[in-house]
Amino acid sequence: MHGIVLLGAPGAGKGTQAVLLSKVLKIPHISSGDLFRENIKNQTELGVLAKSYIDRGELVPDPITVGMVRQRLSAPDCERGFILDGFPRTIAQADALDELLRELNKQITIVPWIRVREHMLLERLSHRWTCRDCGAVFAYESLPPREGCKKDVCTGMLYRREDDTPEVQARRIRVYEEQTAPLIDYYRDRGLLVEINGEHTIEYVHHLLRQVILGAEAVQGR
Ligand code: AMP
Ligand code: ZN
Repeated sequence: MHGIVLLGAPGAGKGTQAVLLSKVLKIPHISSGDLFRENIKNQTELGVLAKSYIDRGELVPDPITVGMVRQRLSAPDCERGFILDGFPRTIAQADALDELLRELNKQITIVPWIRVREHMLLERLSHRWTCRDCGAVFAYESLPPREGCKKDVCTGMLYRREDDTPEVQARRIRVYEEQTAPLIDYYRDRGLLVEINGEHTIEYVHHLLRQVILGAEAVQGR
């Protein structure tokens, strides 16, 4: 069982790395941000509730978020494991996740912290384009190519996320520092944290992640 929680600030590369790991390990990539955006697109009750928080770069209240993740983690495709991206984001969410995993008879096996300095986060977020159809992200300094998304066979239109404006980006990074960064010590104290330098290329960060994830398994005899 792989129970992977990716930690890192907005723009650190959690989503990009989660997609790659999900393919290699054949376990689902669960992004709370993607789940929210999906709900907003489909105008569900949950989406309507979450939208105002997301637009401001603030955290959606825990009861809404935890309920949504609970439902996703209970799905049959999580039988062999999961990669959480963007959840938990507060100590209260981490406690709720523990309880939830106990109920589901699952566990966290490793928490890679993808570390990137703030000036690079802002730089990356300012060039980030997202696919409307599959959520893949790309970096383009000005406008993206007309062909749109190039992930596998996807040709979705690329757009700038509404919460990728400079003001909301700055707010999201502050929220991360205040509310999410305490999780680094939380998981370090439990011996689950591994630090990864996220300033390398996508390929090299992926290589480092595979090394720590598969290495941890060898040690645990899984
Ligand atoms: P992300 O795609 O991870 O950058 O998330 C986009 C936005 O969704 C965040 O800025 C929050 O408003 C909201 N969000 C995502 N995950 C969580 C979470 N675990 N707790 C609260 N809000 C979240
Ligand atoms: Zn796409």
